[in-house]
Amino acid sequence: MGKDYFLGIDIGNTKLAFGLVRDDEMAFSEKRVIPTEPQLGVRQAIDKILSNSRDLLVSVQDGVKGIGIAFGGFVDATRSIALASPNFPGWSHVPLVSLIGDLAPGIPVCMDNDANVAGVGEVTYGKARGYKHAVYLTISTGIGGAVLFDGQPLAGTQGLAAEFGHTIVQPRGPRCTCGSRGCLEALASGTSIGRIARERSQGQETIMHALVNKQEEITARIVAEAARRGDSLAQTILDEVAFHLGVGLANIISAFDPDIVVLGGGVMNSADLLLPGAIQVVEEHLTVRGAVPPPIEASSIHDDIALWGAIALAHAAVER
Ligand SMILES: [Zn+2]
Repeated sequence: MGKDYFLGIDIGNTKLAFGLVRDDEMAFSEKRVIPTEPQLGVRQAIDKILSNSRDLLVSVQDGVKGIGIAFGGFVDATRSIALASPNFPGWSHVPLVSLIGDLAPGIPVCMDNDANVAGVGEVTYGKARGYKHAVYLTISTGIGGAVLFDGQPLAGTQGLAAEFGHTIVQPRGPRCTCGSRGCLEALASGTSIGRIARERSQGQETIMHALVNKQEEITARIVAEAARRGDSLAQTILDEVAFHLGVGLANIISAFDPDIVVLGGGVMNSADLLLPGAIQVVEEHLTVRGAVPPPIEASSIHDDIALWGAIALAHAAVER
């Protein structure tokens, strides 16, 4: 039997996902998802990554052609070392490409950070397919992104290009997880939408209080649900989020002049509430100087985008 499988590995702070895909099929022939458990230490996480990868490689009798890795953190400029991860204390300079490569000698292994890999997934399988210059933004607990020229993610000198979450959209604005102020992530991420709503709803009449379950606090999902039910405070908050997202997008589009912008991540489940306002800001900003705004669309890939991106990376590794 010839080699015709690709292995994708997605290393996140909450879960580790592994997927085998045969040739150009659009379904996993095998997929595993296990908890990362960062609190148990780095060694056990690496052991789980290696043992599960080994199992899957053996299961197809060395029939794997290429391996792609999406890492939820910072990757060095050579794309071989997983440097650090903001929510995984103790993770430092892990040579993942060579560790995985040792399991499958002679098989090409490629790695990038999860936002870049998701971007590669989007240009390979999603709405950015066929576009020459694409920008991808993922909006969930944080905000990440990728700039893709001819399908290739821009790395930057330190491997830190396209950190759109930390572009400043409100100087001296709210404190960001990175320590700075007024970053897009501090104003438009899922975490920030929840935080803003909790601050603004105190002592206010809003159905957001009633939508909170016993163990839950006001989250971005609750803000969206309240807005859909006509709650004016929730609608105001999302209008402001859309405005800040639009400012961020106008800056990104002005910098990179892409053919298309695709937005993914959990917050885009509320794309209908956020994108029209954001697009309006982009149009106002770009058209005054005669620029034509690119299409700005929500991703159509809702599950496993980083895993599919890792599969696309594995294909690219073989073709290189
Ligand atoms: Zn920041």
